[in-house]
Amino acid sequence: MHTTNPYNGKLVKEYKLHTAEEVSDKIHKAHQAFETWRTVGYNQRADLLKKLAEVLTTRKTELAHLMAEEMGKPITAGSAEIEKCAKVCIYYAEHGAEFLKDEIVTTDASNSYITFQPLGVVLAVMPWNFPFWQTFRFLGPGLMAGNVALLKHASNVPGCALIIEELLKQAGFPEHVFQTLLISSDSVESIIANPLVKAVTLTGSTEAGMKVAGQAASLIKKAVLELGGSDPYIIFEDADLELAASKCAESRLINSGQSCIAAKRFIVLEEVAAQFIALFKDKMASQHPGDPMQPDTTMGPMAKVALRDELHQQVVKCIEMGAKCILGGTVEPGEHAFYPPTILTGVTKGMPAYDEELFGPVASVIVVKDEDEAICVANDSSFGLGSALFTTDLNRANRIASMQIEAGCCFINDYVRSSPDLPFGGIKQSGYGRELGVYGIKEFVNIKSVYVA
Ligand code: NAP
Repeated sequence: MHTTNPYNGKLVKEYKLHTAEEVSDKIHKAHQAFETWRTVGYNQRADLLKKLAEVLTTRKTELAHLMAEEMGKPITAGSAEIEKCAKVCIYYAEHGAEFLKDEIVTTDASNSYITFQPLGVVLAVMPWNFPFWQTFRFLGPGLMAGNVALLKHASNVPGCALIIEELLKQAGFPEHVFQTLLISSDSVESIIANPLVKAVTLTGSTEAGMKVAGQAASLIKKAVLELGGSDPYIIFEDADLELAASKCAESRLINSGQSCIAAKRFIVLEEVAAQFIALFKDKMASQHPGDPMQPDTTMGPMAKVALRDELHQQVVKCIEMGAKCILGGTVEPGEHAFYPPTILTGVTKGMPAYDEELFGPVASVIVVKDEDEAICVANDSSFGLGSALFTTDLNRANRIASMQIEAGCCFINDYVRSSPDLPFGGIKQSGYGRELGVYGIKEFVNIKSVYVA
């Protein structure tokens, strides 16, 4: 396994994969660690999470540099990602015990209550796009609930994967409550099959989710899936267009467009389409792509040349099918993985920009005649992760957001983002289960009813 810097195509480092024996040993150690960790009180777990938050904050510059090197994230964005990881640790340190306290239920028993008990060793299969955040939003609540974790990170971020183990050690967590496995995705099946592994969480593509969920289901093991998305953003005729254009561009270009909850399909009412597109194009064009190691760089390269090339093929296919490219859409020569901010208009059903996820800085604009058509197009997707509405009519916005949009969340007059206190996840092929908030910490627990006659 090796890592390549996507800014210049240079080899960063080579890593030796763990052998099957080493993996088996790590699973056993994880299980042993669980037997003790499950008995540790919430206060002690919370103190360790707070210490972990401190360690993250102290080392954020170094961690941001590592992300920049391995997957091209600009260091300013990398530092913000680490701060967010610290926040999720503090959030569960402060609220976890209250979320998991026994619930008394009045029944015909003399006493009956619900108690939330940890499951044991949980395997986390994670993607490279937010190498720390994706891991920590599972790990914070997971550890607070008393589970232990094994991480199989994406193969292009082994440095990030290994340093997480070091961070926990530095914070004082007991040995083996968190371990990184350097393995290929082919080995995931055998880990899920190990009887000591009780559950799996995967954040990644729908294809990977289908495989892993199928393997877990065949063994009746719990799985949480955070998969791809093609988030619709509806811009209504009464929207504040300046605000909409800037939020839409910001969201589309987050992490060089490589975010599951980036805005991807822009559904605009025809009355304001020309005006919105002009404003949106200005905002999309105002980025400064550059060296991710420089603090003023707002947009880095994509994470891998192969992913950039795949994205470009989707763009080319759309243009062949009749879409118009009004910004970007070209690949500059060189060893880097840059792709420019790109806008496709005239996107219609059947084109990759309509039917598939575009995991890079490419916006698909679809013009519609009215509200009904806008909602219909928004829901005409195999995905159901995030969504956003831009309108000044909040009654309309709340009605559509709560009852009519098929997605795990809907933001009004802002772009979608995850935060520790709100549950996060999708429906349809964007996955199932929730991370974060009160629901996230209850995914990997045994919700046990106790009845005293
Ligand atoms: P990916 O190729 O699916 O990889 C994600 C993880 O799954 C990696 O660790 C990968 O390992 C592993 N993996 C891939 N195929 C597997 C298989 N057959 N069995 C077991 N493990 C397998 O996704 P990605 O390219 O890293 O990430 C981009 C995708 O993730 C996008 O679709 C994006 O929308 C989605 N995503 C979703 C969320 C969310 O919260 N819903 C968040 C972020 C990203 P290797 O690297 O070794 O292949």
